[in-house]
Amino acid sequence: MSTTTTTERTDLPGADELRQRAERAAQACGLDLSAHAGDAAGRSPLTGSVVSSLAWSSAADVEAAVGRAHAAFPAFRDTPAPVRGNLVKRLGELLTQHKADLGELVSIEAGKITSEALGEVQEMIDICDYAVGLSRQLFGRTMTSERPGHRLMETWHPLGVVGVISAFNFPVAVWSWNTAVALVCGDPVVWKPSEQTPLCALAANALLQRALAESDLSPDLAHVVLGAGEVGQALVDDPRVALLSATGSTRMGREVGPRVAARFGRVLLELGGNNAAIVGPSADLDLTTRGIVFAAAGTAGQRCTTMRRVIAHRDVVDDVVERVGAAYRKLPVGNPLVEGTLVGPLVSKAAFEGFEAAIEQAKEAGGEVIAGGARVDVGGADAYYVEPTVIRMPQQSQVVCTETFAPILYVLDYADLDEAIALNNGVPQGLSSSIFTQDQAEAERFVAASGSDCGIVNVNIGTSGAEIGGAFGGEKETGGGRESGSDAWRAYMRRATNTINYSGELPLAQGVTFDV
Ligand code: NAD
Repeated sequence: MSTTTTTERTDLPGADELRQRAERAAQACGLDLSAHAGDAAGRSPLTGSVVSSLAWSSAADVEAAVGRAHAAFPAFRDTPAPVRGNLVKRLGELLTQHKADLGELVSIEAGKITSEALGEVQEMIDICDYAVGLSRQLFGRTMTSERPGHRLMETWHPLGVVGVISAFNFPVAVWSWNTAVALVCGDPVVWKPSEQTPLCALAANALLQRALAESDLSPDLAHVVLGAGEVGQALVDDPRVALLSATGSTRMGREVGPRVAARFGRVLLELGGNNAAIVGPSADLDLTTRGIVFAAAGTAGQRCTTMRRVIAHRDVVDDVVERVGAAYRKLPVGNPLVEGTLVGPLVSKAAFEGFEAAIEQAKEAGGEVIAGGARVDVGGADAYYVEPTVIRMPQQSQVVCTETFAPILYVLDYADLDEAIALNNGVPQGLSSSIFTQDQAEAERFVAASGSDCGIVNVNIGTSGAEIGGAFGGEKETGGGRESGSDAWRAYMRRATNTINYSGELPLAQGVTFDV
């Protein structure tokens, strides 16, 4: 199968061992597996073997979970925000204690290498810290009134039940971005995780249930419902779900967005990306190469922020291609549970087929494969490991404009910065972007309004690996949502504008008179 020079790591655990490891890690997080036993087989992308047998939820289960969360809302709404913050503080402590357990589950169900899986749990801990501070900073503004003896101000109130739908590739962090913030904002959460990663979800929720119990708060403030898209639909359509936060493909967002809008619910969409780095003629090519390789090949190309395009200046493009190609040929692909591996498996056969099809289309469009391109023979017939792939393209053809969720990096060249920015912006998605340059004017032009049209615009750093302190999300087909830091919390609350009249008179705004 493979003709690769990539370093292969074939030492994968057998099916029984993998299942035992998954069960042990889930139980260590406090999950009672027998309470969730059922006949839906959950498979690990490491070998394709079954690691869980769980019961999926019915539409009636979703309705009941939303109902219980909705009933728990009024008391939680009246709980002071800093007290809600204490709950999230406890969740962060439990996540810290169980970082290795949850990290192992992330590796087993999503295929991430250990370091990235632990990084995902660290991100959960970070957002808990952030949300605890936020619980004392849900500020509203006061505004000057045009009328004497009047005060204008805004207050922020809890919104109601937040529904979370998450993707396989950040199987727990996306839930925590939403949940830590929703909880301090006073909102219960009902979560439908990816059908690929149910154990991670149940284990993370078990930790939250423990924090709720220790905080004397209702267990109904957090629910998990398991299953595929149809189960998600029940959450989408329930009018008691005040905010639906959905992370996944643009295809999913296209279905979900209009349905929530039709019932006048709020929706927060975090969808697909097609992220580029511009490499200017002055770029430090050592730093640039490291930045590209982590962002493009890390997580086996399965991040929404994965770098999928390099747009390099004509003076440096050959050098960039040579350096990135050389780094790619040395990347250790294989068992993500062992130290040293940098590239784990693709999540499924469908993902592998997408990888193969995109390479074919790229070749038909005149692309030249510089490195990679093949399947790597580890993990057995039901596991899909591939070589991270670099393809030099003559133009930004259809395949380059499409998000293929696999480690394929297309390299294009440009002559002047306007052209590079036009290429960066010339795709339907608008999540992340970066420029590598030592020319300050170039960097400033890229981050200016007429520069990158993405939600994330970086300089001398790759497109992936965002910190929780900033608002995360993107434009165009990425959905427009913002999560995590900055003022993203406002999506989880409702704003009331208050006018307080202490004048004893009743002057009307805009000078209107209405004497009775
Ligand atoms: P996916 O769209 O197949 O599934 C995502 C989630 O949506 C799953 O829980 C799935 O069951 C659910 N779902 C699918 N169709 C649905 C429907 N009609 N109604 C309700 N729920 C539905 O995505 P995936 O393969 O799990 O993840 C990869 C995709 O997610 C990529 O496109 C990636 O870019 C995107 N993603 C985006 C972000 C971001 O923050 N922008 C983060 C992670 C992943």
